[in-house]
Parts: sequence; C-alpha cells; structure tokens
Amino acid sequence: NTPDTTMTIPTLEYTPVDKIEKIVETVRQGYNTDVTKSIKWRKQQLRQLYKMLDENEDILCQAAYLDKKQSAGEAFLVDLMVLKNEVVDALENLDEWIKPERVNAGLVHALDRCEIRREPFGVALIIGAWNYAYQLTLGPFMAAIAAGNAAVIKPSEVAPFSAAVMTLLVEKYLDPNCIRVVNGGVPETTRLLELQFDHIFYTGNGMVGKIVMAAASKHLTPVVLELGGKSPVIIDDTADAQVVAKRLMWAKSVNCGQTCIAPDYVLATPDVLPKFVSACSAALNELYGEKIRSSKDYPRIIAERHFDRLAGLLSEQLKVPGSKVAVGGFCDRNELFIEPTVVTGVGKDDSANPLMKDEIFGPILPVIEIKNIDEAIEYVRSRDKPLALYVFSKSDKTISTVLSKTDSGNTVVNDLFMNMAVGELPFGGVGPSGMGKYHGHHGFLAYTHPRSTMIRPAGLEKLVSIRYPPLAYSATGR
Ligand code: NAD
Repeated sequence: NTPDTTMTIPTLEYTPVDKIEKIVETVRQGYNTDVTKSIKWRKQQLRQLYKMLDENEDILCQAAYLDKKQSAGEAFLVDLMVLKNEVVDALENLDEWIKPERVNAGLVHALDRCEIRREPFGVALIIGAWNYAYQLTLGPFMAAIAAGNAAVIKPSEVAPFSAAVMTLLVEKYLDPNCIRVVNGGVPETTRLLELQFDHIFYTGNGMVGKIVMAAASKHLTPVVLELGGKSPVIIDDTADAQVVAKRLMWAKSVNCGQTCIAPDYVLATPDVLPKFVSACSAALNELYGEKIRSSKDYPRIIAERHFDRLAGLLSEQLKVPGSKVAVGGFCDRNELFIEPTVVTGVGKDDSANPLMKDEIFGPILPVIEIKNIDEAIEYVRSRDKPLALYVFSKSDKTISTVLSKTDSGNTVVNDLFMNMAVGELPFGGVGPSGMGKYHGHHGFLAYTHPRSTMIRPAGLEKLVSIRYPPLAYSATGR
C-alpha cells in the first residue's frame, strides 16, 4: 500500500517567467497548423495519455505519497482510476460527440443544410489544483484535447512531486508542438494570465477564481471555474445513523478531508444527532483501526500553512461555549496529522463559530442541531450555493422537499461522492462554487462552442429573391 519510494522524481523546476510567452507562442503555432482538430491527432493523444497513466502508475502514486502521504490504493482509487476511466470514455465516444448535429429548419429551408458543429476554442490554459493533482489537472486537459484544442497546463506548485512527475511524463508522451507544461506559483501564473488564451479552466479557491476571471475578461476569454465552498449534509430522523456515520466518516477522511466536495458540516435533527455522533467512532475504527495515526490508508495535510489554519480553527471553535470534541481531536504538527474530528455544540451563527465561516477543507466536521428539515433548508438557503449538498433520509417527502427548495452544483442522496463515478453526470458548481461543468460529454461540450452552420445551394437565386427590394409587401399595408 505504501508506494515504492526508490524511483527518482525530479525536483520541481519553475518555468522562467521570461520564457512563458515563447512557450505559449509555440503552442499557438501548433494550433494554427490545424493538427489538433484532426480526429487522428485527438485519438492518438488520448491513447498516449492513457498509456502514460497506465505505464507510470507506480511513480504517479509515489509522488502522491511524497506530497501528502497518500497510500497507493487511495491515490489510484480516487485520483488515477477516475482519470483513466474518463480517457477511455472519451476514446469510446469521440466519434459520436464530434458528429455535426442536424437541426430541423422547417419547410422554407428544406434545401439548406442546417447544423451545429462543435468547434474547439483554440489554445486552452488549464490551471490545476493540488488536492487531486492528476484528476484536476489532466482531467480538464483531457477534455480540451478531445475537443481539438491545443493546451498549456499549469499544475499546482502546492503538490510539487505530482507536478514534477506530470511535467516529465507529459513531455515524454504527448505532442510538444501543441501541449506544454508551465510550472510555478503566483508570478508564473500571473504571467500566463496576462497572455492571450482562447479558454481558461481554473480549479481552486474562489479568491483566486476572481483573479483568473478578471484577467480573462481583459481578453474576453471564456472561463470554467471549479471552486469550493461549504457543502452541507442534512440528516433527518428517518436515516440509519450507522450507515450515515460510515459513509460520512469515509468521505471526510479520504485525502484527509482535502476534497472540494467533502462534507463540510452536518445539520441533524435532535433524534438522529446523538446516534450519528456515537456511531462515528465505531465507523472510524472499522475504516482505519484503533490507531488511525498508524493506518497507511490515512493521508496527511498538504502543508504546514494548511495544518496551522485547521488546528487554529479547531482550537478557536472549542472556545465557544457548548462546543466540544465528540470524536478525535488529536493534531501533530511534526507529522501534519489531524485526526478525523467531530465537533458538536456548534451554532449556526458564522461570526460566533469559527468552523462555520469558510470552507474547512480538512478532516474536521462540525455538527449543528436543527429542529426540523425546514430549518435546515432555511439555513442552507441563507448561505452561498454550495458545490455539493447531501441528504440522508428514508423519507421521500424530505428528499423531494430538500431537492426542490435548495440549490447546489451537485447533489447525492443517501451517499457522498458517488456522482463522480458516473461520467454522464456533469460536475461543477453554481454561483460562488463555480461556473461551467465537465466530466464525460460535458467536458467535451465545455471545450467546444456550437458553431451554427447553414449551407445553402449556390444557385436557386429566384427562390431567395423575395427578400430583395423593392419589396412587394410592407407592414403598414401601403
Ligand atoms: P491551489 O493552491 O493549488 O491553487 C490552485 C491554482 O491556482 C494553482 O495552480 C496555483 O498556482 C494557482 N494560484 C494560486 N494563487 C494564485 C494567484 N494569486 N494568481 C494566480 N494563480 C494562483 O489550490 P487551492 O486554492 O488551495 O485549492 C483548494 C480550493 O479549491 C478549495 O476551495 C476547494 O474546494 C477548491 N477545489 C475545487 C474543486 C472543484 O472541482 N470544484 C476541486 C478541488 C479544489
């Protein structure tokens, strides 16, 4: 389960800022040859991408381990496998996706060929995030090339080993005339954002999302923004507390809670709340054993900065009267270890409850008691629309009321995350949790624009001459 750590991963080298413009120019020249539009090139690159992921699973898992002590099993299950499936899906369906869509234009246009052609935008910039470094960088990239774009990839510098391996492999397996990687942090990304792209796909926090969108607006470049936010879990009295606890503790512990669609907080009715909380410890024991710290399946926080933020939030929350740790609570800075932690007695007022201010993005779960489902709905509606919303209930009425009265980018009823396994479900946020969708066909759609096309017979001038003045008819009837 612990990956082989003997393979050599190069140190991540940042791209010199003064070289970035030339790199983008090279990719633009590659795009201008029209090679990326050919189906042959697209499929060849997709096959190469699959081969790259398949032949290098060990080193990719090793990098994820070095970045955040993620086991090979988890890195494969939640990051690489999802990505490989997406590549296979694109290869299997590309011929269908690219077919022009004929539209029925009516009798008047019976001799015209009216169709929608899905055209690539051109040169795409993909700015990836660190938490699922492969899927969130190469997933959108995969959709970009399937759609016939050329691409510049900017992996997150916060996961340096994963970024270094991706750079090495992309250079080895993919077409360097049309696909390039730029590495770095804020100065390098800022330089990229000054340049002209035809599409920008950014995954990360909303504050940077605004910077990306502002930069894109200077060139009127379309963007997809995959952001985050506080994703609620609503549990009513009909739910099976044990099942909910197991599913929720798993989803809050995968990748050490550093997941954009992780359950951020729980809203539970009075009857189910104590049953749920007491089932959480047993669920964690089943998942990771008595000593979670020694479990090879439980990763670590990515960096000290994030550890300090999370440990700080927890200690601040515990100063609030009534708040207490019901499960876990142990943190060790040397190891960047934070135990999956459930905090009860958390209030709904953000200004008085540190854990309720911003997205937690770590393995700490505040639990808020609500009187009934209406109160939960009112609370969710009073906040930003979340990236994900989860409901656990056996009542069809509760489920349909929550679905009809709330909004979120993604919703799963009676489980978490499993929508990710269905390629045909679009993934993305709404409002402050993001704009634009991808995965499967939706990724292809995100990276193409519908070119409206009408092809008329070259002759038949008599038939169309009715539109020319002098007109035989006018609206006034004169
Ligand atoms: P991050 O720090 O890796 O940043 C993302 C990218 O933005 C990186 O490539 C980074 O270099 C770049 N960046 C950072 N600061 C910048 C700046 N000032 N100007 C230009 N570029 C800059 O990732 P993060 O923001 O820590 O990621 C966590 C957030 O992302 C959470 O809010 C999470 O919910 C969200 N997220 C969303 C999704 C999704 O699919 N919707 C997926 C993962 C993470």
